[in-house]
Amino acid sequence: MKQILKVKIGKNINYSIDISDDDFNVLLNEINEFTQKQKRLFVISRKVYRLYKKHLNLPKNELFIMPDGENQKNFKNYIKIINKASELGLTRKDVIIAVGGGVVGDIAGFAASTYMRGIDFIQVPTTLLAMVDSSVGGKTAIDLADAKNIVGSFYQPKKVFININFLKTLNNRQRSSGLGEIIKYAFIEESCEYQKPLFLFEFLTLSYNRIQELEPVTIIRLIEYCLNLKISVVSKDEKEAGLRKILNFGHTLGHALETITKYNKFTHGEAVAYGMYFVFDWAYKNSYINYSYYRLSLELLEKYGFRRIKVKKCNECYTLLLDCFNKVSASKIVEIMKKDKKAASNKITFIVPYAKKTVKEIKFSVSEAEKMFENCIPEQI
Ligand code: NAD
Repeated sequence: MKQILKVKIGKNINYSIDISDDDFNVLLNEINEFTQKQKRLFVISRKVYRLYKKHLNLPKNELFIMPDGENQKNFKNYIKIINKASELGLTRKDVIIAVGGGVVGDIAGFAASTYMRGIDFIQVPTTLLAMVDSSVGGKTAIDLADAKNIVGSFYQPKKVFININFLKTLNNRQRSSGLGEIIKYAFIEESCEYQKPLFLFEFLTLSYNRIQELEPVTIIRLIEYCLNLKISVVSKDEKEAGLRKILNFGHTLGHALETITKYNKFTHGEAVAYGMYFVFDWAYKNSYINYSYYRLSLELLEKYGFRRIKVKKCNECYTLLLDCFNKVSASKIVEIMKKDKKAASNKITFIVPYAKKTVKEIKFSVSEAEKMFENCIPEQI
């Protein structure tokens, strides 16, 4: 089974995305064929390497094996990748290939975009999140300790090979993380300006069991739906001048939560899901959306196992309870949001729901952002 999607951005950028459940030897042959005249550097996640070295049989001398975790998406590893590319003698005609989740894809893409001012880049995503989102659209990045994705570039891959067999070894938490981004697409579908309705929201509601079982036809369709929405947005606004901002739905609070917990408490999808609850509560309390859509949206998040972040009010201040021993004030979170690259002129940008499957951008001052926590349903203590 194979689906091929095409990405066209402006006059010069064209690439295709293969989505399949082929055997890994077919995948390897396709990669070899695509890169036959090139020197290659594979940047591969350590865990993925361990799990798949026999299936993929990648040449050892062409590998950079990346330690796992968001906190590895850093300058140190970026420099190591660049050094490895130089050691292997990669030139402007050569290629870096990312094999892993969004962390590997983001850092390898950033290395490819800067090595010799840009060499070819191929994505082989191995997590659900990377398949439905991060491997397509050309955002590459590394983090600083107090700001996520703050250094990066827009740099499109030459090819994306998605093989859903990788998903069989993904643990439940990582699967669920991918579902966080997928649900995001359901909430923004109408704003993506795709040529026809895909009914992703309804698909997620009806196909819950088949998704949990990783039924191949369902999973390929799910990936296709999300990528069609993403391609529709990115092809109209590659560099996030306007429309592309909607892809950040749930991310303003999400990124702040990831940063404040040093990138090791929440998965990306969990953090985004907390962020989506947050803006849904705000939008409902401020009459942007009606009760029926608010309820349906929360039910979808709950169905897929996502919960609200706990918020406690004490005097006029709000505290987020990240777990029993880990509390953080709303004002500290807002401080971090101010450092987000979406913030400008001391304003914090949120993408908020304002009709069914539709979102828009709103800018808040610091004090307005702090007040948003008033709308969260408080923790019962
Ligand atoms: P990840 O890359 O950290 O991978 C999660 C974990 O799963 C890692 O431990 C990894 O080794 C493991 N893993 C990967 N493939 C596996 C497999 N097949 N079987 C078993 N384990 C496997 O996390 P992620 O969720 O894939 O990506 C999150 C990152 O993506 C964040 O840094 C986020 O900022 C970024 N992101 C980027 C974009 C973009 O447009 N560039 C979009 C969304 C998210």
